[in-house]
Amino acid sequence: MTAAAFSDGAAGPLLKSAGDDWRDHAACAGEDPELFFAPSHPEAAKARKRREGHARAICARCPVREPCLADVLEHEALPGTFRCGIFGGTGEDERHILAAPRKRKRAVPRVRSTASRVMPALTAAQVALFRSKLAPGGCGLVWTRQVRKGGYGVFKVRVDGVQQHIVAHRLAYRLATGTDPGNGNVRQSCGIPACCTPGCLVLVQPGRRARAAIQRKAEAA
Ligand code: SF4
Ligand SMILES: [Zn+2]
Repeated sequence: MTAAAFSDGAAGPLLKSAGDDWRDHAACAGEDPELFFAPSHPEAAKARKRREGHARAICARCPVREPCLADVLEHEALPGTFRCGIFGGTGEDERHILAAPRKRKRAVPRVRSTASRVMPALTAAQVALFRSKLAPGGCGLVWTRQVRKGGYGVFKVRVDGVQQHIVAHRLAYRLATGTDPGNGNVRQSCGIPACCTPGCLVLVQPGRRARAAIQRKAEAA
């Protein structure tokens, strides 16, 4: 697909010199590049959604999503380049968010605290890793890896030397809205525990009793 679209026809999408052998495993090799890139003529929203859905489905089964995404992010950071196409299961908007400069690094507790549910800050690469574990399905995006009791996804990641277990749909909410749910609960309106589709994620603030319990935990910590 994309290879043909971009350069030398080698498998895999991008622009680096040949010899990066992860491209040899690209699921998009041989696919129609037009699936992955907007046409030069105006494209109806429905048609775009359908086209991108097909491209994302190919990326979802691609074994080299992570290097592909890292590569395109690196490329698009170069001056004079612009974002276009589906790479590593992401579109232009998602990569715009991934590439945005990170704000102040939040202090990360050495030990995971039960008193606060604020998530640690993640690097762009960790966010990309998280996104690579989502796949099209259900209402839009579903978590494909380890789940905890109840079927909720868990993203395991090491931050500042501390292993963190972040609830997948809570992280998806933060990435989609820019707001950390903190002590609030994030619920899926569809009722599917593994669903990470932004449109399904609803923040529910804790009630009075829950707030009091959180306060007690914080005081005891
Ligand atoms: S992640 Fe998608 S765009 Fe990248 S190599 Fe795989 S199929 Fe191609
Ligand atoms: Zn859903």
